[in-house]
Amino acid sequence: MDERDYYEESETLKPANLSCLHCHQTDTYELRWIVRTKKKALGGRADEQDRVRFAKARSYMSRRDDVVQCKNPRCRKRFEISGVQSVVFL
Ligand SMILES: [Zn+2]
Repeated sequence: MDERDYYEESETLKPANLSCLHCHQTDTYELRWIVRTKKKALGGRADEQDRVRFAKARSYMSRRDDVVQCKNPRCRKRFEISGVQSVVFL
């Protein structure tokens, strides 16, 4: 089984305060996250190894965006997101 079979997948937006690396202006950006919520039970195809891995699995969010475009109209450059975790356990 694939690790993805352990989770229900959905997408969400979360605001983050980021400051542009080029113009240093801080603004709020809506970042996209994939939410993987652990299923209540495994499907029929699960073997012993799946059950062990599933028992250890935890719901988590994974950040989809790595770069954002600066909101400052005089800048508009893309910059890499830093200071925000890429994986958050729920
Ligand atoms: Zn900028």
